[in-house]
Amino acid sequence: SLRGQTAEEVISKYVEKEESPPDEECPICFEKLCNVSHYNEDEEEGDSVLKLDRCRHFFHQSCLYAMYNSGPKDGSIQCPTCKAIYGVKCGNQPPGSMDYHVIPHSLPGFPSCGTIRIIYNIPPGTQGPEHPSPGRRYSSRGFPRMCYLPDNEISRKILRLLIIAWERRLIFTIGTSVTTGEPNTVVWNEIHHKTEFGSNVTGHGFPDPNYFTNILGELASQGVTEDCLDD
Ligand code: NAD
Ligand code: ZN
Ligand code: ZN
Repeated sequence: SLRGQTAEEVISKYVEKEESPPDEECPICFEKLCNVSHYNEDEEEGDSVLKLDRCRHFFHQSCLYAMYNSGPKDGSIQCPTCKAIYGVKCGNQPPGSMDYHVIPHSLPGFPSCGTIRIIYNIPPGTQGPEHPSPGRRYSSRGFPRMCYLPDNEISRKILRLLIIAWERRLIFTIGTSVTTGEPNTVVWNEIHHKTEFGSNVTGHGFPDPNYFTNILGELASQGVTEDCLDD
C-alpha cells in the first residue's frame, strides 16, 4: 500500500533534481538552497535541491523528506508554499462512523426542500503513530455530532465530497479544542459544518449565503474536488 512507502519513494514521483537552483531560501528550513539544511544528518554530503514538478517550487531534499515523515505518511505531499497537492492527501481522523439521511424539515432560507442530516460518531481511543501524542488517550466530546445541509442539488454534491473526505480521514483530527481548550481531543479539521438546525446563534447555522462556496473551497484545499467524483 501507499502507506508502506518511504519518503524517498513517494517524493521521487513528484520532483525533479535541480542542478542550478536560484539564490533563494528553502521555505521549510529558511536556509539558503545552496547551503545544507539542518535536517540533513549526513553533514559530509551536500544537500540536493528538488523542484516539485507541477508548481515548480524548490526545497532541500532532506527538508521534503523531513516534512513527509512528520505528516500522515499517506503517499501524498502538499507544497508548503502554494498548497498544491501531489497524490491523494489523507488526514489522521480517528476511527468512527458517518451516516446521513433526509429529514422532512426545512432549513432557514430553504423552505421548499427537506434537510440532509449527517451524523458523525467518534468514540474515545488511544492515539496512533500518526497522532500528536502516540500512546496517549484522546477524548471525544459532543458526539454524535449532527450536521445539516438543505436537500438540494449543490448540497447533494457537497455530501458526495464529504463522504470522500471522511474516507480520506480529513473531517476530524486530534488536537486542542479552540472552544474548550481541552488537549488530546477529537476536533473539526478545517472543513466547516453546519451544526445548528433552526437558527444561527453560534454562526454554525443557516442562513449563510457564502456557505456552499466556502465549504467547496475548504474541501478543495484538502484535495477533494469535483474531479474526485468522476471515478
Ligand atoms: P474547535 O473548537 O477546536 O474548533 C475547530 C473548528 O470547528 C473551528 O473552525 C470552529 O469554527 C469550528 N466549530 C466550533 N464549534 C463548532 C460548532 N458548534 N459547529 C460547527 N463547527 C464548529 O472544535 P471542536 O472542539 O471540535 O468543536 C467544538 C464543538 O464541539 C462545540 O461547539 C460543541 O458542539 C462540541 N462540543 C461539545 C461538548 C459537549 O460536552 N457536549 C464538548 C466539547 C465540544
Ligand atoms: Zn531546507
Ligand atoms: Zn508549490
